[in-house]
Amino acid sequence: MKVFNTLSGEKEEFSPQGDEIKMYVCGVTPYDEAHLGHAMSYIIFDVIRRYLEFRGYKVKYVQNVTDIDDKIINRANKLGISPRELADKFTKSYFDDMAALNIGKPDITPYATEELPKIIEIVQGLIDKGYAYPAQGSVYFRVRNVPDYGKLSHRSPESMMAGMRIEPGEEKENPMDFVLWKASKVDEPTWESPWGPGRPGWHIECSAMSLKYLGNTLDIHGGGQDLIFPHHENEIAQSESFTGVKPFVKYWLHNGMVQLGEEKMSKSLGNLVTIKQALERYSPDAIRIFVLGSHYRSPLTYAEEALEAAEGGVERLLRVISRDDPTGGKGEALGAEPYRKQFIEAMDDDFNTPKALAALFDLARAINQAADFGIGFKKAKNVLATLARDVLGLKLGIVVTPEPIKAVASTGVPTVIIGSPPTPEVELRVNRLVEEREKCRKEKNWRQADEIRGKLAELGVAVEDTRTGTDIKYKRVPSEESLDSLMAELGIALEDTPKGTVWKQKR
Ligand SMILES: [Zn+2]
Repeated sequence: MKVFNTLSGEKEEFSPQGDEIKMYVCGVTPYDEAHLGHAMSYIIFDVIRRYLEFRGYKVKYVQNVTDIDDKIINRANKLGISPRELADKFTKSYFDDMAALNIGKPDITPYATEELPKIIEIVQGLIDKGYAYPAQGSVYFRVRNVPDYGKLSHRSPESMMAGMRIEPGEEKENPMDFVLWKASKVDEPTWESPWGPGRPGWHIECSAMSLKYLGNTLDIHGGGQDLIFPHHENEIAQSESFTGVKPFVKYWLHNGMVQLGEEKMSKSLGNLVTIKQALERYSPDAIRIFVLGSHYRSPLTYAEEALEAAEGGVERLLRVISRDDPTGGKGEALGAEPYRKQFIEAMDDDFNTPKALAALFDLARAINQAADFGIGFKKAKNVLATLARDVLGLKLGIVVTPEPIKAVASTGVPTVIIGSPPTPEVELRVNRLVEEREKCRKEKNWRQADEIRGKLAELGVAVEDTRTGTDIKYKRVPSEESLDSLMAELGIALEDTPKGTVWKQKR
């Protein structure tokens, strides 16, 4: 297995320290909603973690939350709430987004504000060794004492110096030096320290949390390419100077940035698409396929057509997963091994997910062909489902029979759910609307039937007539309110009776 290591600038044979891979990925600074850039990064590292586990490794995955930072303080002040309140709100929102995208939880999620003792221990240790110095209540890292500073970003001292300066009020010896501990300003959250009240700098938090939970050498450290300099460069300087152990990280993995057209998607450019906005329009599986359709080190260009194509891909996989083996698993069967091998070879080559996806879709096509020729494909389908679900983290829907109204189920065709399943309340309403459309069709009221279908489509629910009946496909889950207002337009009301909730036609 080969991985591209930012430190060497080359693809290297992956040889971790032991059977348990120690993996750290920089987490969020929760001051606003997470956007597609976050989705890309965390989906990629989720797939890397899943693949390593698939290959038989144990993975200990740590991802922090930077719950104290200038951005949090500034935004909280603007909104007139406490930094704690703001950070808690967006931390929760972030984890909701991650769960919706089927991104596995890290094994450990340390919060910077809960790791002050370790942070202070490291800052003090760096001062004791001459790598840091206090000045007016702050503490700075002395970059000139680290001869190999710049080894990760491969930058010359001159290029690193560009843009570095001493801000008014800073007592740095050198513009390159960076802050480890910030003396507190008025009205900011502070913690006691040997250098006076203050708060930690961003870089030291990640060093403290990774060293504390994973030890002096990590196998994998991940993050976006925008973190290479100065954040990760500084993490190396701090950690290696403190522990005296090199390397701090064996393999540095960095993902590319999400772009909108030619520009990077960023808050400062005001061109962000939040994860929640994307989930309103596309299924989580489509978002994952969209992200994995480009190599993780390349830029990913956001385009609606690309997401729609990914949605089509989800549907193709779902159809295959829902097909039944005509031989019942006996007799001649399709061999999945060449596709599985192709998938693994792609992933072994620096996690080449576009190639892995191509292998998966080739397998899907082969299964469809086998089915059409009456050849068995039960095992091949299992291989497809395992690679798609366990490694790529696709949910690939859940095929359910609509409950509790049986009118639709009586057509004998299951509902196909793409993405998160609807709540029973939503399902009750959708089924009732589909039933109403069936009634209109029987009465040859085509106009009304089409209107119901059109309105449901606008809400993300596709109603499709097939040879055997009617399919209901949830591309996204509509709100109860939007369905209620559609039902009100049609004169259908929901009433509670002693027998439960029933639908009454008012016309
Ligand atoms: Zn970090």
